[in-house]
Formats: sequence, C-alpha cells, structure tokens
Amino acid sequence: MFRDSVAAFARKELAAGALARAHTPEFPHDVAKLMAKTGLLGITMPEADGGAGGTLMDAVLAIEQVARYCPRSADAVAEGNFGAIRVLAHFGSADQKRRFLAPLLRGEEVIAVAMTEPGAGSATTDLETTATADGEGFRINGAKVFPNPHADQYLVYVRYGPRVEGIGSVMMRRDTPGFSIGKISKFMSGADWAPIFFDNVYVPPQDVLLRAGGFKKQIAGFNAERIGNATRSLAYGQYCFDAARDYAMTRSQFGRPLCEFQGLQWKFADMKVKLDAARLLLYRAATNADKGFPAADETTIAKLMCNQTGFDAANESLQIMGGLGYTQETLVEYCVRRSRGWMIAGGSIEMLKNRLAEIIFERRFSQRLPKSGEK
Ligand SMILES: Cc1cc2nc3c(=O)[nH]c(=O)nc-3n(C[C@H](O)[C@H](O)[C@H](O)COP(=O)(O)OP(=O)(O)OC[C@H]3O[C@@H](n4cnc5c(N)ncnc54)[C@H](O)[C@@H]3O)c2cc1C
Repeated sequence: MFRDSVAAFARKELAAGALARAHTPEFPHDVAKLMAKTGLLGITMPEADGGAGGTLMDAVLAIEQVARYCPRSADAVAEGNFGAIRVLAHFGSADQKRRFLAPLLRGEEVIAVAMTEPGAGSATTDLETTATADGEGFRINGAKVFPNPHADQYLVYVRYGPRVEGIGSVMMRRDTPGFSIGKISKFMSGADWAPIFFDNVYVPPQDVLLRAGGFKKQIAGFNAERIGNATRSLAYGQYCFDAARDYAMTRSQFGRPLCEFQGLQWKFADMKVKLDAARLLLYRAATNADKGFPAADETTIAKLMCNQTGFDAANESLQIMGGLGYTQETLVEYCVRRSRGWMIAGGSIEMLKNRLAEIIFERRFSQRLPKSGEK
C-alpha cells in the first residue's frame, strides 16, 4: 500500500516536470518541501525526532517509486533519509536535532557530507582536516573536495588526533566565519561540486557530532548512504529499461517493431535478470536492517550489484533507443550520466570488491605499503 501510494503521488505531482528538473542544476527544494508534507523525508527516523518511524525498506521503496516518474526527485528522498542526515539523526544530541535535523525534515535545508580531501579519496582515513581544542570547542583547518557547494549545512569529517582512532565529525553551517567555498565546477551529471576550505573555523562544543573514536560509527551510518546510492542506481537502470521497452514496442524498422528483433530481445532478457537479481540483493540488505543500520557485507554486495547493473541497464537502454536515446529529449542519457557517478561515490566499485575479498577470506588485506621492518 505504501509503495502504491508513493507511486500515485509521484505520478500526479512529479511526472510532468521530470525532464526540466533533471536539467536544472539546483537542488529541487520545491520537491523536498512537498515530500516533507507527504511524509517522505525522515521515513526511517523516530517519530519523536520528526520522522515517520518506518523501516529502511520503506525508504528504498519510496526512492524506487519516485524515480519511476521523476529520477531527479529521487535525490530529495535520498537526501532526506540516507547518508549524512541519518548519521545526524542517529548520533546527534537533542539540541543538534532541533537546530540541524528539524529544518532538513521540513525540506527547508540541505545537508552534505564533507569527507573526501585532495589527498584522501579511497583512503578516507588519511584525511588531514584537523580539529584542535580551543577552550571547550575546536578550531577546524583543512580542505575538502567534491561536496555539494549549495548545501546549508555540512557534516565534516575531522581529525582530533593521529590514526583512525583520532577521526570524528562536526556540524558546520555555510555562513560560519572561516568557512569558504572554492571555484564551482561540474560533474559529468551536470551537478555542481566545489572544494571547501576551513580557515581556523571555530566549532562550539554543542556542534561536535562525534568525538575521537567516532569513525566506525560514521561508517556504520555510511552503510545507510550506500543503500540510498545503490537504490538510485537500480531505479535509474529500471527507468531506462522501462523507457527502452516502450520504445521497442512502438518504434518500427524494416517494417517491424524493434521488439521483434532477437538481437534486442536478448539485451532485454539479460537486463531483466540482472535488474531483478540486484533488486533482491538490495531488498535483502534493507529488510535485514529493519529500522537500524544495514550490515556491512550485505550492503557491500548490494551496492556493487546495483551500481554496475543500474549503469549497464541505462547504457544498454540508450543503445536500444538509438539516436533518440543519445539526445536530451528523454531522461535516458541523464540516467546514464548520473548512474556512472555512483560507481565512484560512496565507495568505488574497486574498493567494494576489496572489502568483499576481506569478507570472503575472513581476513584483512591492508592496501598500504608495509611500514619498514614489517613483513
Ligand atoms: C558523483 C560524486 C559525488 C560525490 N559526492 C561527495 C560528497 O558529497 N562528499 C564527499 O566528501 N565526497 C564526494 N565524492 C567523492 C568520492 O567519495 C570520491 O571520489 C571517492 O571516494 C574516490 O576517491 P577519489 O576520487 O579520490 O579516487 P581515488 O581514491 O584517487 O581512486 C582513483 C581510482 O583508483 C581506484 N583505487 C583506489 N585505491 C584502490 C585500491 N586499493 N584497490 C583498487 N582500486 C583502487 C579507485 O576505485 C578509483 O577507480 C563524490 C564523488 C562523485 C563521483
């Protein structure tokens, strides 16, 4: 019933503007506000915090159904349920929830995670942004790359001390003195990104989210982000599959509809099997998580499968739609560009495979060179 009601909402409210929304770089704030009213933000968060008290699976279904009618609007569901917002909702104090979480759940503000640094991408724990004690608060110095430069608030990964045990996070607003945004640039998807800089930014104690030792907690929360990322990949692949299926039934060449050519039928058969398999892996991770964070192994497998399958299905659907697929008359080319990014963001395909190898062999494989003297 929930799935069908989200589908009905998306068909009625979002389908008409889908093409224009995809080509507008700004975040769809109007959609986020509409979703807040409809109860699609904070689905998994407790009612006491302004959420709906639902499950991770509910949030997955919401992304899928919204993306069926407006792929870009699925971002509002993802931002309002997965990732930074989820870490904030889980680990934030009552005061932080009032100041930072509440405006997000009302659809009035946007949060971004500021984790990646120029010298720390896949090697996240190499991050160098420092948090140095100043009275009861901290002074933040450093730089980040790739976050959304238009967010209102940032969940910033910082280093209070050496090694992984020294990592934690703080909340920061874009208007904080010492916080600045560098040159805005574009991803292949058309979305903006920019470096951000912290020049002796003062963070009061009440804005510290996780102190030293918080990294593992953040990564547990980050698994929820990965489910959101995986769901959008899958949903975009499915969107393109559906578009290509409709096209193959209506477009004729050589006097026959495209769907009668075996060369194309087999593409659809391969896509269908992979999309269904990816969906089952995703649902496994989400269902087992229930109202908590998803398990690392199931999330890794689901993200790998959904990222690869979503992009492959979008790309193959574009091919099936020929020249039209390559134009901006449909959203298929947009879905190809967007789903490509999720193979890198939130744990690249290669890093996920490294993690999977550790799960398979039940041992850790350090990616670092051994320190001198170590074997
Ligand atoms: C669309 C998009 C949105 C993003 N949004 C954000 C955001 O909001 N906030 C934020 O902080 N960051 C964001 N990022 C950054 C993202 O988290 C990083 O791009 C990602 O962690 C990879 O880091 P890197 O780009 O530095 O690549 P690198 O770590 O330099 O890796 C380069 C290549 O080498 C591979 N590689 C690296 N190490 C290994 C290894 N040990 N074994 C095998 N292969 C390896 C990688 O998989 C990759 O293919 C975003 C990125 C994208 C593409």
